[in-house]
Amino acid sequence: MNDLVKSALQTAFRMLPWPTTTGLRPIGTPGRASPVLLTSNYDLTVRRVERALRGVDAWLLVAPAGGINVWCAAAGGHLTTHQVVSTLRTSGIAERVDHRVLVLPQLAATGIEGLDVFRRTHWRVRFGPVRAEDLPAYLAAPGEKTDAMRRVSFDWRDRLEMAIAWGAPSALVVGGLALLLQPAWALPLVALCAAMALATFTLLDRIPRRGPLILGAAATLLSVAATLAAGGGAAAVATAIAAPPLLTALLTFDYAGSTPLEGGSHFESRDWRIHLDLDRCAGVFRCWEVCPEACFERDDATRKVILAHDERCVRCGACVVQCPKDALSFVASDGARIAPATIRRYKLNLLGRRTADTGVDRASDVH
Ligand code: SF4
Ligand code: SF4
Repeated sequence: MNDLVKSALQTAFRMLPWPTTTGLRPIGTPGRASPVLLTSNYDLTVRRVERALRGVDAWLLVAPAGGINVWCAAAGGHLTTHQVVSTLRTSGIAERVDHRVLVLPQLAATGIEGLDVFRRTHWRVRFGPVRAEDLPAYLAAPGEKTDAMRRVSFDWRDRLEMAIAWGAPSALVVGGLALLLQPAWALPLVALCAAMALATFTLLDRIPRRGPLILGAAATLLSVAATLAAGGGAAAVATAIAAPPLLTALLTFDYAGSTPLEGGSHFESRDWRIHLDLDRCAGVFRCWEVCPEACFERDDATRKVILAHDERCVRCGACVVQCPKDALSFVASDGARIAPATIRRYKLNLLGRRTADTGVDRASDVH
């Protein structure tokens, strides 16, 4: 299939898994000193990484992750320490390079324990940049991650992609329904779906959480009013009435965890906040390296980290998982605490409902 068509299809239906072949891929003409990178077997991601690395000689390990993108796979328990360890052991990469440094995508830090990978394989884990396009600059100066490389920006390209991903399936359903009931309304309703998806992802973080619901209700009223004004028959009115639930579902969906921009909402009632125990901090700066919201700043003078922007925290748990000194945890205003061991043991993050039901309600784990 043509690359462009493939990308368009995978963007429009990115909620579906798009697995690609796992294993070791040479990029350019890699040698024994070339960098080794790993990503999930989501076809769109692998092709983007390969494109970004054009002109670079590197080894790329594609790990089994259910054909899901890195962020969702790691946060949802599909791209784990086990997948990384088994890919390192079965790919034969150890025989092809002289070093033992593995570069992982930064957004995999919620699910992969860097320290555990080292204990089990003696490969040192580094977390690279958020975006594949920054890989060449990162590889040229490892460890020198700029703020732009570490922070999820959710720029217009991400917003457009998410709008297409949510708008296309709903347009397909609404358009199909309209074609069956009232063909003349198919195009306007598809346009309405596209406009609503665009509006949602343009305004996502700029309007109150219930804003999309108001937009959906307004669109529904407009849709029905326009249908009646045009003198549409019963089928047209039925189509206009059928669209609202679909649009409302799209617009009121809990996006928590869909992007690293949206905070977790699952345990909102407990008001969990990220907490730094400065006495334990040894200045390893792993938290600084992996936080997708750049909540941490390095204090090179004291060799400690500063939790400078905790208000940005989306409760992904990446810093808690990676901190080798267990200096980070989640605490609630009533004094309850989720210890790092619990986060690691249950692959628990507070982003959404995907993995959160597995342990936090156990009294012995929340204290
Ligand atoms: S909090 Fe943990 S990961 Fe962050 S600098 Fe301190 S020891 Fe390192
Ligand atoms: S501070 Fe919050 S957003 Fe940043 S890595 Fe930790 S849990 Fe995730």
